[in-house]
Amino acid sequence: MSAPFAERRGGGAYDDGVTTHPVNRWTLLGRALRRRCPQCGSKGFFASWFKLNDHCPNCGIACERVAGHFVGAVGFNTIFSFGMLLIVLLSGTWAMYPDIRVIPLLALCFATALVMPILFWPLSQTLWMAFDLAWRPADESELDPRYTMTGS
Ligand SMILES: [Zn+2]
Repeated sequence: MSAPFAERRGGGAYDDGVTTHPVNRWTLLGRALRRRCPQCGSKGFFASWFKLNDHCPNCGIACERVAGHFVGAVGFNTIFSFGMLLIVLLSGTWAMYPDIRVIPLLALCFATALVMPILFWPLSQTLWMAFDLAWRPADESELDPRYTMTGS
């Protein structure tokens, strides 16, 4: 006989009185695509293009919710960058066919492989955070009490 779903998940996080703050998935995605905090939508998620702040200055959620959180962002960045590389390779081949000039095409692919991961880095961070928040909504202990008082 199998245990109820909540018990199998590890203690029934939604049934034991813990307050979570789920945000609509499309809202999470929209905020992430604008490089904003997916939880609250404020700016200030980044200290610079490459560096995340420790916590969102508005809602207080940790920018790295668990140790190794960044690995998901690296995965997103890799998928996006290889996707762009494939698009450049295929469209370059299509544009030059049948007289394909290999050196310029390889130079274009090399430039794409260098630039895309840098350009996409902040979006990979916010997108990964949005996916994480969709799967595991923030709970009361992760957020600044001033933010949770607003009921957002
Ligand atoms: Zn926030």
